[in-house]
Parts: sequence; C-alpha cells; structure tokens
Amino acid sequence: MLEVKFYPGEGLEVNDLFQAYMTAKRYIYQSQRGKEIFDALEDNLTQRTVLHVDPTTDSTFQHQVASTKFDAYWNPIKLFKIKPKGIQSPALGLIHELGHGLQCQTKLAWYEERSTGERYLEIEEDNVTNNETPVAIDKNEPVRIQYRDFIGANWFNGKAFTGMTLHQKVIYSQK
Ligand SMILES: [Zn+2]
Repeated sequence: MLEVKFYPGEGLEVNDLFQAYMTAKRYIYQSQRGKEIFDALEDNLTQRTVLHVDPTTDSTFQHQVASTKFDAYWNPIKLFKIKPKGIQSPALGLIHELGHGLQCQTKLAWYEERSTGERYLEIEEDNVTNNETPVAIDKNEPVRIQYRDFIGANWFNGKAFTGMTLHQKVIYSQK
C-alpha cells in the first residue's frame, strides 16, 4: 500500500501539499509507466511505502534492511537541474522516489545487495532507466542519460516563477 503524509512548511499548509500531490499524481498518471508504478504500490497488500511530502527536505528514499516498510521523501517545490541542460518538474522527483519503492517491492534482495557501497549506483541507474525516464519522455520533460547527469535541486527562483505565490508555483511546476 501507499500511505501519504504531509508536513506543513515554507508557507504551505497541509491542504496546499495535498493539492500539489494530487496535481503531480494526475500529471504522472498521463504516463503509462507512471500509472503502473502508482498502481503497483497502492495495490500491494504486504509491503508499505510511506510517502512523506515535505517542502523543507530533499527528495530521497530510505529502506531499512529486511523491513517491509519503505520511506520516500518528496519536496514538491524543488526543481531538478540536469545535464547537459534542462529542468525537470518536482513531479519527476516524485516518480523517481516512488520508483525506488517499486524496486524494493519487486526485487528486494537485488536492492539490498546493492544498497551500500559502490554498487548503489546500479540501483540509481536502474531507477532512472526503468522508472524516471519513461515518464519524462511521455511528459516531454528532459531526460538524463546517467544518474549522475544531475546538477542539483533548485528552489523556484527562475524568471518563469517570479511574481507568483508559492502555491501557484507548486502547481505551475507540474504542468
Ligand atoms: Zn534515487
């Protein structure tokens, strides 16, 4: 199952975060692969992915060895700058973190063998190739060839976002 928790911050209340989440989910659902990932997490009855929607954190994923609970952290107001150029919406960050949930759900032993040390990159490359990139292509967003083609997570500070309220920015970034 997929459980979603909301943490107010950066001027956003629970309802704003809920709206941002629903907007991102609708957007991702327009991609076949994106819908598959959501459906697989929601329909699973034995393993639980908890999605923490928190505008003060970086988007990350955590799994404790041998646990059936996985934690995904998503910042709905951060954009992702990638090489050679392009900016992905926060919605792509969401599907990336949920993609890790799907990896744990479908191949936990494979994941745990690689979750520490050098081989961790294999998890990331698999997630970018099979989960993030198909959704990015469907939604006409820039893609990264390798996981490391990532420059950083940026707050909304580009020209396109000036003069908007924070709530508007959250929605706009997912269109
Ligand atoms: Zn990742």
